[in-house]
Amino acid sequence: ARPRDVDTSLLRAWPLPVPSNDADKEGRGHVLVLGGSREMPGAVILAATAALRAGAGKLTIATGRSVAQLVALAIPESRVLGLAENDAGGFTVEAVAALDPLADKISAILIGPGMQDEAATARLVHALLPRLDGTETKVLLDAEAMGAVLHPPAGAPPFRFAVPVLLTPHAGEMAHLTGIDKDDVCAAPDRHAQDAAQRWNAVVALKGARTVIAAPDGDAWQHEGGNVGLATSGSGDVLAGVIAGLAARGAELAQAAAWGVALHARAGERLAERFGTLGYLARELCDDIPSLLEQAA
Ligand code: AMP
Ligand code: MG
Repeated sequence: ARPRDVDTSLLRAWPLPVPSNDADKEGRGHVLVLGGSREMPGAVILAATAALRAGAGKLTIATGRSVAQLVALAIPESRVLGLAENDAGGFTVEAVAALDPLADKISAILIGPGMQDEAATARLVHALLPRLDGTETKVLLDAEAMGAVLHPPAGAPPFRFAVPVLLTPHAGEMAHLTGIDKDDVCAAPDRHAQDAAQRWNAVVALKGARTVIAAPDGDAWQHEGGNVGLATSGSGDVLAGVIAGLAARGAELAQAAAWGVALHARAGERLAERFGTLGYLARELCDDIPSLLEQAA
């Protein structure tokens, strides 16, 4: 099917859940951002900030022990758990035990920003997902954590997710995950996003100047907007954080992805007016999200 445009009328017809005025912070949604490493602690800072700006009420960050304190200082609003790290900058599977007490309290979990060691990350993802089965937790995998599809638990290929999951690859990551040439991904993004969504049983947002969102049931959406200023370090971390924040508020994964992609692009458009198209910072995308949310509602 031809993807539907994510435009103003589609978003108006697909309103986000709004918390009642007497909601407490748990009621507004609890986000867990799992990621970061010695080399990239900033990615979790960006994603977590974006999740709060998207309206989530409560934030927990799980990151490497070596950077946990600096991450905590960068986001005073967060609770930060320090996880054991291996020599390659990945987390050991014991991290799962540290997260267990949170499993039934988290509304949405984002795994991947700033992580290193694809194989260790995949083991962690596969250890974590079964523990979320039966909970309402929404799962987003970005960056290194998407390698879970390349490293399935023993005996499982071809790999399909058993719980609802969103993946947010750019074309290069999609090429890596599927073995399809990057130029071929770019030449037919609709087909490759839809094929991947069905193969992995996941919502797939294939990012680029044009972003295609495909659901495993065959539904698909597309969004074209923003500007080349969004092609900058940390931009995808902010997008993933916005989507996680919206999912924590109660949006379904495809809805959170559609809204998140549109808000991220509009934030880039606003920054282009303020600073110019090139040179605004990914972190600056976050600040405009609350007013853009109100405007779009
Ligand atoms: P990442 O590559 O993970 O940092 O994500 C980059 C983000 O910026 C994605 O949301 C892309 O859709 C967006 N993006 C990248 N290049 C462009 C572009 N030329 N025009 C509009 N959006 C872009
Ligand atoms: Mg990225």
